[in-house]
Amino acid sequence: MADLVIIGASYAGTQLALAARANGFQGSITMIGDEPHAPYQRPPLSKGFLSDAVDASSLPLQSPERFREERITLRTGVSARRIDRQARTVSLSDGAQLRYDHLALTTGARCRRLPCEGAELRHVYYLRDLADACDIKARAREASKAVVVGGGFIGLEVAASLRTLGLDVTVVELQERLLQRAVPALISTFLQAAHQQQGVRFRLETRIRRLLGDEVVTGVELETGEIIAADMVIAGLGVVPNVELAEDCGLAVDNGIVVDRFARTSDPAIVAAGDCASYPNPWMPAQAHEAGAGDAGRCVRIESIQSANDLARVAGATIADRPAPYEAVPWFWSDQYGYKLQMAGFSAGHDEAVMRGDMAAGRFTSVYLKHGIVVGADSVNRPQDHMAARRLIAARVRPDPDALADESVALKTLIPA
Ligand code: ADP
Repeated sequence: MADLVIIGASYAGTQLALAARANGFQGSITMIGDEPHAPYQRPPLSKGFLSDAVDASSLPLQSPERFREERITLRTGVSARRIDRQARTVSLSDGAQLRYDHLALTTGARCRRLPCEGAELRHVYYLRDLADACDIKARAREASKAVVVGGGFIGLEVAASLRTLGLDVTVVELQERLLQRAVPALISTFLQAAHQQQGVRFRLETRIRRLLGDEVVTGVELETGEIIAADMVIAGLGVVPNVELAEDCGLAVDNGIVVDRFARTSDPAIVAAGDCASYPNPWMPAQAHEAGAGDAGRCVRIESIQSANDLARVAGATIADRPAPYEAVPWFWSDQYGYKLQMAGFSAGHDEAVMRGDMAAGRFTSVYLKHGIVVGADSVNRPQDHMAARRLIAARVRPDPDALADESVALKTLIPA
């Protein structure tokens, strides 16, 4: 019987194992994880777990019973060192060697490090895993002033959580607006105002010159010469995909392990999914003149749970020999204070935006159209709009913009039967 080895024990790895079973894969499944824990939920780490609303006991992704029932062997605290594609083996850090028929790479990504002097000082943090979150939380109990470097999702969620805990918080961001990579300007403006109302300060379009302190961080010095005192610094500068294992064994890598719509790498025995994988996403608008993209969509590496889960489902089905291409509409969310921001589709490249609801009241949806077709939507505290928007995008609907803007018309009524 065939053996499946999965390197990486988080969302994509777990979903891939379950999907292989759900599609009838009967062989052995071994999942390798370098953290000491069984797979756990990561979104609360920057949100409820950090602000003390959620405790560690509620974090596991699946119960140990579920892994047993599905015959998934979990090996934690051990990392894969080398893949031999000829021999079809994986060497582990504990000296063991696993043989595979199918190999899955769900190796994730790691935090980009602060590029400046002083980055090695104590009380400078990054947030990726449970250990990081515990360290930040412990320090937050003693600290009173935090500087967050990076105004992306991690930076802003950490800022909101630390502010909720009563710390004085300043966010330093390189770009002229927050979340530039992820959302249009009106959402950046809304969130910045929400943070400012809570007392968070911002320094935009600013670079950090160095971190100050002797052994322990005491502040940051900006390029402008301004010094901001801090007894903890948290950097959320984005991530770098963990592609070294794939590269070392000669798989195609291009800002992520390259896979097709069936999650297959350049070696048919190996699939990949999650933050480490780059795949053709049918909802990502192809650039004009881009060779080969066509209807298959552009290759993207998406750092989201939706993407990890849905591509892992595809990979699991591929392994079980029931291939079905990736088709899911992308979505993402972020909680900051009392605001739930939910994003559907890709808003980049839209030529029209329609506002539903009242931005000032903190309850609205911005729907994005391209050539009249709904391509994306960002909602704040309007979960029903978000759910409907995903279906509008999937159906490539061309709605009447007046109906879209009319709050008395439920978005779901615009979905074709
Ligand atoms: P994450 O998931 O870590 O939040 P994002 O890519 O969404 O990742 O956001 C990272 C943010 O950090 C971006 O807004 C980016 O402009 C910002 N950034 C990157 N490097 C620096 C830096 N050296 N100083 C300040 N901001 C930075």
